[in-house]
Amino acid sequence: MIKSNTDKPVVGVDLGGTKVLAGVVDISGKILHTAKRATKPEVGVGTVVERIAKTVRDAVKGAGLELSDLAGVCSAAPGVLNPDDGIVRYAPNMPGWENVPFAKLLSEQLVGVSVFIENDGNLGILGEHALGAGAGRQDMVGIFVGTGIGGGIILGGKLWQGAHKTAAEIGHMIVLADGPVCGCGARGCIESVASRTAIERDIFAGIKARRESLVPEIMNRDGRDRLTSGALAEAYSQGDPLVIEIIGRAQFYLGLHVASVINFVDPEMVIFGGGLVEALGDGFLEPIR
Ligand SMILES: [Zn+2]
Repeated sequence: MIKSNTDKPVVGVDLGGTKVLAGVVDISGKILHTAKRATKPEVGVGTVVERIAKTVRDAVKGAGLELSDLAGVCSAAPGVLNPDDGIVRYAPNMPGWENVPFAKLLSEQLVGVSVFIENDGNLGILGEHALGAGAGRQDMVGIFVGTGIGGGIILGGKLWQGAHKTAAEIGHMIVLADGPVCGCGARGCIESVASRTAIERDIFAGIKARRESLVPEIMNRDGRDRLTSGALAEAYSQGDPLVIEIIGRAQFYLGLHVASVINFVDPEMVIFGGGLVEALGDGFLEPIR
């Protein structure tokens, strides 16, 4: 059961580099309705915040509720932020997101509702701890592989936020000395070798080097210029040798990464999630295990 001092429903928002997903959840943890739309981070901060507010309104309307029925809205953001002052310091996969007063901007769009923000990996592991794969456990680590790689840590049954509320940035643990440049500016972070963005970069390089692959055909058919997790999963399941090789490399580095995390934290469990893991399914985790 979720701890709360109200019995009103809440809205949780997952803001990612690719999509915005809002869910209305009641006090028992039941999802009443969800809504989503593309993030389009390239359109700028103000427009992204408007898109989030619209998605929240869609979800609330779909649940047959009004904004005034809610206890509050909590939005995730994929970056370094402070939940106390509501400011996103820096979000590597979201152009222009530097020192953005995200909670304030979103509450201006959602008048009359309390708005909170937290790091997406932190909210991901909190959700798994409260209602998901980690229910009833006390020590766990979440690794969320999507556009970037986020993380979250529960120790002794509580979210471990760190002295500056920036703990569990495990996507920026370095696994490859002198590796590819990461969105954070460092080289060889796990995010720069194993996120969907990194896999996409390496597959496009392979195609440019005239490696055979089903990817161009799938992208043409879908009319997309980005390689979505769904398209990647399709090519993977059809045995595309280029995709299997590059995903295999990501799995290898994720295996090194999670072994270091386990040695460091000694968790009861590690929970993998995120768009890429969900699209590729449990088979993706086998080599990492
Ligand atoms: Zn990094």
